[in-house]
Amino acid sequence: MNLKNWPRIIIHLDMDAFFASVEQKINPELKNSAVVVTSNLNSPTIIAASYSAKALGYKVGNRFESNNDVYRLAANHRHYLQESKNMVQALRASISPNIEIYSIDEVFIDLTDQKRLYASTEAITDAINQCMQHLDLPVKLTKFL
Ligand SMILES: [Mg+2]
Repeated sequence: MNLKNWPRIIIHLDMDAFFASVEQKINPELKNSAVVVTSNLNSPTIIAASYSAKALGYKVGNRFESNNDVYRLAANHRHYLQESKNMVQALRASISPNIEIYSIDEVFIDLTDQKRLYASTEAITDAINQCMQHLDLPVKLTKFL
């Protein structure tokens, strides 16, 4: 999509399965496994599920039912916060300094001042995906506003 007639460009970026993805990054042997995160090992409520856990029917908010094919981990918020900071820092350095943090895994990026650097929304998406590739975490660009 051409950006010429857009007065402002604001993007909503949402990290996918964030806590589970951070766990898979920290524990690379779990990269292709089904991973579920609960607040602690006494809490049954799922707070994050990897793609393959979701494919097995595990959903955020549901009760964890143990299964030999699923790794269940206790949340490590210190790591999630660090990855969140790394994400914001990388985006500020290479995409736009105008970032509003919305939650631990969501930001709004104002690209209005950088508009002339990009030919299209696809070019922006590519730049952001490339920036995020270094973090080794899956990301979703949900909306151009
Ligand atoms: Mg998310």
